[in-house]
Amino acid sequence: MQELVFSTCFAVFAALALTETLLFRRLSPSDKKRIYPRLALLNAVVVGAMMLAILASWGYWAVVPPMLLFLSLVGYLSTTRVRICASCGSIAQPQSLTTPAKFCSKCGTPLSASPLLARRF
Ligand SMILES: [Zn+2]
Repeated sequence: MQELVFSTCFAVFAALALTETLLFRRLSPSDKKRIYPRLALLNAVVVGAMMLAILASWGYWAVVPPMLLFLSLVGYLSTTRVRICASCGSIAQPQSLTTPAKFCSKCGTPLSASPLLARRF
């Protein structure tokens, strides 16, 4: 059972990573900026569910609630604090845990939140 859960999660992770890599390469910078929050949220949910399934299949039920909190925090931060440059399309990681990057490290363009999140973050 454990091997089946682990191999299924690995296959789902590989398919998700390959699909998103191919999709992200074809998008324009403005499209990347527009869809990034949705992809980050999708990744957090899928990877989090897989991690919890693996932990549950190993019988580590006591680790599941704190891991769920941790994964929720990581998903929230990756969705709201990572910026996409509208000029060159590069991904700018946050300067600190809660502070998004202000300028693109490759081209120097000022960064802003995705239009999906611009009103709130
Ligand atoms: Zn840039």
